[in-house]
Amino acid sequence: MQTAVIGQPDESKNNVPYTGPIIDMHLHAYHADANGPPPLPFCVPISTMIQHFDPKDTWMEVVMKASENPNCEGLLLSPETDEELIKQTVGQLQKHNITAVLSGEVDFLPDWLKAAPNRFIPSLKFSLPADEMPIDSLEAIIKANNIKVIGEIGNQYHGIAANDPGMDKYWELAVKLDIPVAVHLGSGPPGAPYLGFPNYRVKFSNPLQLEEVLNKYSGLRMSVMHYGEPFIDEMIAMMYTYPQLYVDLGGIMWTYPKAYFYEYHLKKMVLAGYGKRIMFGSDSMNWPGLIGKSIDIINEAPFLSLAQKEDIFYNNAARFLRLEIKK
Ligand SMILES: [Zn+2]
Repeated sequence: MQTAVIGQPDESKNNVPYTGPIIDMHLHAYHADANGPPPLPFCVPISTMIQHFDPKDTWMEVVMKASENPNCEGLLLSPETDEELIKQTVGQLQKHNITAVLSGEVDFLPDWLKAAPNRFIPSLKFSLPADEMPIDSLEAIIKANNIKVIGEIGNQYHGIAANDPGMDKYWELAVKLDIPVAVHLGSGPPGAPYLGFPNYRVKFSNPLQLEEVLNKYSGLRMSVMHYGEPFIDEMIAMMYTYPQLYVDLGGIMWTYPKAYFYEYHLKKMVLAGYGKRIMFGSDSMNWPGLIGKSIDIINEAPFLSLAQKEDIFYNNAARFLRLEIKK
């Protein structure tokens, strides 16, 4: 039997889909109307949905118009109620045998957890400045709600860099509680500053901004959500220097055309030798169909061996989360 060597794709097994259990590191507990009034159509990949824009128009209106007249194969429609969104999401988790790290607000997580207690790992959504709170309050919330991950930490959407000193006390708490953190670094929706995130900044996607944090808090267990795309070289440099650092794929497989995602993002990280620290993440929000789509795109990557897929879909997340490996 041939075994995959780190960084060396095993082309002999590249057409075998992975069908075992999956850990989705990046699932959102959203309300049905979180992205606008449902049902909302959604086309992927999103980078090519609107290919040019004249600033005489308003970006928000152009986006809304485009979603009124969707023109794509495999159109996804968002469920109309919270109950239906939860039900369809759980249906996807069951169909694909997924355990998902579920990022949400503490008041809404229980609605999801009770729908499928064994399918979710509760994760606390956190962003400054809105979630600024005394450290003992955050500790109490984490303990009272059995929170296993702090994330998605969405400071970038609010113009706050990963190394902002305002986060120090929270990093300290994460180390003290030995709880992993998951930080958003990467692109938001196209035209994010014109879609309700006026302080979103591209420059804060850069993983180099984590350097002081990882240096100062060497016990911190951190995953970079969306792997700081498209700053791949910077991400690889950070994974090289900070061997504790993991990444999740966070929906980027359906953000860009998959040939680009494969060739310049996923393949590059795998070839650099980091196939043991890349974790699957669907970034499913209001469209549960994104979960199956995300799985298919990883399974269809022509350069991944079955062993590498198994690492990405399950083993790496199980190790990062320190779960008991069930297989
Ligand atoms: Zn994100």
